[in-house]
Amino acid sequence: MGGGHNGLACAALSAKAGLSVALFERSPILGGTAVSEPMWNGYTVSSASYVCTLLDPWLISELDLEGRGYHAYRKDPATFNVLRDGSSMLLGSNDDTNAAEIAAFNPRDVAGFIELDRVTRRLGSELFETFSDDEPRFENLPAESQGLLRGSVAEFIERYVETPVLQAAIATDGTIGTYLGPRDAGTMYVLAHHFAGRALGVQGAWGYVRGGMGSISKALASAAQSYGAHLFADAPVEKITVRDGRVAGVVLRDGRTIRAKVVASNAHPQTTYADLVGTELLDDATRARLKSWRTIGPSMKVNLAIGELPDFTARPGTTPRSHHRATIHVAPSMDYIQQAYEDTKSGSVSREPMLECFLQTPTDPTLVPPGKHILSIFAQYYPYDVCRTWTKEDGEREADRMVALLAEFAPNLPGAIEARQIFTPADLEARFGLVGGHIFHGELLPGQIYEDRFPTRSSIDGLYLCGSGAHPGGCVSGFPGKRAANAIVKDLKATFRQAQGDTVKR
Ligand SMILES: Cc1cc2nc3c(=O)[nH]c(=O)nc-3n(C[C@H](O)[C@H](O)[C@H](O)COP(=O)(O)OP(=O)(O)OC[C@H]3O[C@@H](n4cnc5c(N)ncnc54)[C@H](O)[C@@H]3O)c2cc1C
Repeated sequence: MGGGHNGLACAALSAKAGLSVALFERSPILGGTAVSEPMWNGYTVSSASYVCTLLDPWLISELDLEGRGYHAYRKDPATFNVLRDGSSMLLGSNDDTNAAEIAAFNPRDVAGFIELDRVTRRLGSELFETFSDDEPRFENLPAESQGLLRGSVAEFIERYVETPVLQAAIATDGTIGTYLGPRDAGTMYVLAHHFAGRALGVQGAWGYVRGGMGSISKALASAAQSYGAHLFADAPVEKITVRDGRVAGVVLRDGRTIRAKVVASNAHPQTTYADLVGTELLDDATRARLKSWRTIGPSMKVNLAIGELPDFTARPGTTPRSHHRATIHVAPSMDYIQQAYEDTKSGSVSREPMLECFLQTPTDPTLVPPGKHILSIFAQYYPYDVCRTWTKEDGEREADRMVALLAEFAPNLPGAIEARQIFTPADLEARFGLVGGHIFHGELLPGQIYEDRFPTRSSIDGLYLCGSGAHPGGCVSGFPGKRAANAIVKDLKATFRQAQGDTVKR
């Protein structure tokens, strides 16, 4: 149930293991939040997720995703931070260039940055090694790392470097999708999670996917179909049926009943358990977890079709240059990001939001008509509970504010915009089924990770959670889908062996 990339991974692996699989997706397009959508005239937009690092290398090879069209280009340089005084910092994989960029602000930070980067990648690697665990436990991580991961990303970064813009360039990955500021405990886990990927063959490196993020979902769907899975889009599930404590199948919104020994749900845990199963059928632990689950999303996404590249005052030019390929941040300091979060405490949105922008098209021009580009803005903080009653005009006004902020650094931007697509947190909920608009199906913070995330095996026999509500949580990774398929196959084999044993005894 659910054709996000995790549902597709689960379907593909289950079908490959010999199970008879049917997948039902609510939306007319498969892929959930890993989609490439045809938009405007001749544009293809990664409307939700936009960059990739965590996709499981085992999955890539096991399902031959490269043979099915998946390819990622490394995003290098990695980050470009712009400042109001006209300066900027561009960081990537080249140590010499990084050293020169950092030394222009503060030579003392060059060595600190190298050490910080090493420790962050080590933490990411330690997480990666646990992401496939059948029974994940936070305490299985090295003791020293557990302490770090429970802390704040600010505390960690400030140990190594002093330059405000350098601190902010790193801290953004500790707050993405997270309704906390960088000085709040637990954000260090979010940073390490974003360094856990190896899809590009380098720990923590990110990449643009050829054809947009939907290429991952398309490759997974092709694998699932090649092993005999039947995939149905535009087929919302209305109810998961349970009989005598065991799952019995699903009922579709059009009234059809599908019987099944096993149901794997890719939907948000709230949708799966409260809406489709019914809380009265759950055990106390699941009910308690649902009640306390933190799933208020703080993010807005705006996709812009632009006629020319942003011409940054700090690095002029509208022909593609290296900084156009990096993640472009409007986040000059840790205090700026923290203030953007603190603003929400009085029930409003950030007066000056943190912006994380991407231009995929200098790397992959096949997504746009010749000479055109797509600029995506991911902005915080826009909490779901503040924005849920917004009108379309409210969303438009905030998008205007984001563009005006970016225009302080790239004055040609407003005049280059030809079309735009806006997602407030409420729009993310309505369009993708993300409860509370939370991009990870719930916060990725201590208290909601490892053994504290929703278990893959639910308390109802035969019902599994195969989406980001299960370990290791959100991002385009395929791990929750793989872990669910492994659990399903293992449990069915055990049931089969037990039944055979019973027959022999009789
Ligand atoms: C704006 C945005 C930007 C992001 N950026 C990145 C990024 O750059 N990189 C990254 O790695 N991650 C990013 N993420 C996070 C990442 O996209 C998600 O964590 C991940 O894709 C979730 O995958 P999933 O398969 O678990 O769930 P989803 O993609 O949420 O899929 C769940 C599926 O279940 C379906 N469903 C729900 N209810 C029903 C029902 N009743 N019947 C049938 N189907 C149903 C939904 O329609 C959906 O297709 C971003 C997310 C968002 C929203």
